[in-house]
Amino acid sequence: MSSRIKIPRTTPLRGEKFYEGKAKILYRTADKKLVIQYFKDDATAFNAQKRGTIVDKGVMNNEISSLIFRYLEKNGVKTHFVEKLSDREMLVRSLEIVPVEVVVRNIVAGSLSKRMGIPEGETLKRPIVEYYYKKDELGDPPINRDHALVFGLATGKELDKIDKAALKVNKLLVRLFKSVGIKLVDFKLEFGRHKNKILLGDEITPDGCRLWDAKTNEKMDKDRFRRDLGKIEESYQEVLRRVTEKLGKKKG
Ligand code: 5GP
Repeated sequence: MSSRIKIPRTTPLRGEKFYEGKAKILYRTADKKLVIQYFKDDATAFNAQKRGTIVDKGVMNNEISSLIFRYLEKNGVKTHFVEKLSDREMLVRSLEIVPVEVVVRNIVAGSLSKRMGIPEGETLKRPIVEYYYKKDELGDPPINRDHALVFGLATGKELDKIDKAALKVNKLLVRLFKSVGIKLVDFKLEFGRHKNKILLGDEITPDGCRLWDAKTNEKMDKDRFRRDLGKIEESYQEVLRRVTEKLGKKKG
């Protein structure tokens, strides 16, 4: 037996809860620059008018998000991800959230379908990047670059970085999901400031992405909950299974 003493990796202790959202709770840690993101099973839709629970969603979303953040980091995207701590906990860098939700679209669906009067399913000739003002009380209304600038939500430089990162994430995710037989229809991203850098934050899961099976076009995301389509848990499980098969199960 080796006589060398192994120093155990210290896991940051969960401190005070400082934010609870619809799907996640944030806790402080002893390190001001690190935060624990806890994934809940609660599901909401239509600005929280519809509420429910998806069994083990938190566990599945933590794992899906961890795998995807690692994949993005490996491919040069700066994210808040540090490591997965437990079934439902992810250690992340603390962010000052930019109150602009960024949606990237590849195929017409959801609110774009309604707004343009075009049926769901039409492939766009190039991806569309949209901004929404992150404000629950207002139901996250759509805004443009000028609104974000004039109302001081972000600087021009920050928006340039955000657009570039969003399109890069889109390229990487389209490729990843395509390789496991899934069409990436659209998705929502959030960004934040950390030590003068813009990092990708929040989560990347079937809660905030539209994912359609490439062969059957079957929905594999939160639209199953929003539209009462059933087989919600099974669909999230299937996304997790395919992403895990591709990206592998690694610790940390
Ligand atoms: P839409 O504008 O069509 O309703 O949504 C576009 C995409 O962004 C969808 O993939 C949807 O899941 C995601 N999205 C938009 N707003 C939110 C939100 O507030 N929360 C979550 N989880 N996803 C959102």
